[in-house]
Amino acid sequence: MSESKAKVIMLRPGIAAPNLAPLMGTVNLRERGGVVYRELRARSLLNRCDSPRMPFEWTVNPYRGCAMGCRYCYAAYTHEFMGIATPEAFHSTVFVKRGAEAETARRMAPVVRRGQRIALGTATDPYQPAEAQERVTRRFLEAVVQHRDVRLGITTKGAIILRDLDLLRRIHARSSLTIQVSLISLDAELLRRVEPWAPPPEVRIEVLRRLTEAGLRVGISVAPILPAITDSERGLDALLGHAAEVGVRRMSFSILFLRSPTREKYLRWIEAAFPRYLEAYREAYRGRVYLIGGYRERIRRRVARLREKHGLDSRFDDGGAAARLPSPARQLRLWG
Ligand code: SF4
Repeated sequence: MSESKAKVIMLRPGIAAPNLAPLMGTVNLRERGGVVYRELRARSLLNRCDSPRMPFEWTVNPYRGCAMGCRYCYAAYTHEFMGIATPEAFHSTVFVKRGAEAETARRMAPVVRRGQRIALGTATDPYQPAEAQERVTRRFLEAVVQHRDVRLGITTKGAIILRDLDLLRRIHARSSLTIQVSLISLDAELLRRVEPWAPPPEVRIEVLRRLTEAGLRVGISVAPILPAITDSERGLDALLGHAAEVGVRRMSFSILFLRSPTREKYLRWIEAAFPRYLEAYREAYRGRVYLIGGYRERIRRRVARLREKHGLDSRFDDGGAAARLPSPARQLRLWG
């Protein structure tokens, strides 16, 4: 079932979408570290993405829900389709897709033949903790490696990706493979609070180094930059400098995007962790999901400067939907 089709289904809070309900396991596969894992029968891992704003035609998300726990995670709304209305539960109830191998393999050939792009890890991290045992992502890569000229992009924070270096090398040799490792700061103490179950920054820098040394096309994804928290020139300079030191030559970024229910979830966290910023955030994001105005321009210039300083390619940038917003309406009180 296409996830884009699922989005038009009318939902009632607490009740799973009718097309998903029969596929959801009712028995826990296991519980670990406060996370409940359940089965989700899936026809195919390849889901069509019809949005013209997205630079890919197919998405692959081997899991629904993500145990990394990022406070800013924009995908929390997708659990509403599972009948789970509490956005925090996106991180504590994770569905593992099973039974999709045959249909995924069948769909792969025409996708490759048409030169369509596949994005692995758009709504959940494909190398989140469950992957160590479940290996859904690895089985997908085993299907990819059967083909030549696949156009595949992977985004992850997970160090488990290093387990799959053998497959990634083989895919890179025959196809177009781009890997983005997501890292927004080098401040380990801060990241423990912002992304509590993601690998610490030094581990992700090491992942970048190992992937780069393997000859793969690797970038650092600084997404999202959190206003007033991870946006300083000094912090970004250190982050991009470390990435460049381990051989990274590409960098993408975005600025925090807040749609409901992530908005409410993130602001609850700001209230607890950074209460002094709460009112400024409320004001800055009032009636909008993206920041606009002087702040956005200042961050763009900062990133451009630092990219140039550290020799990072700007081919990936914040040029998605945000870039097509109308010109600045007003300066932001705190960050303008
Ligand atoms: S790793 Fe990605 S998908 Fe997982 S919680 Fe963090 S932002 Fe969400």
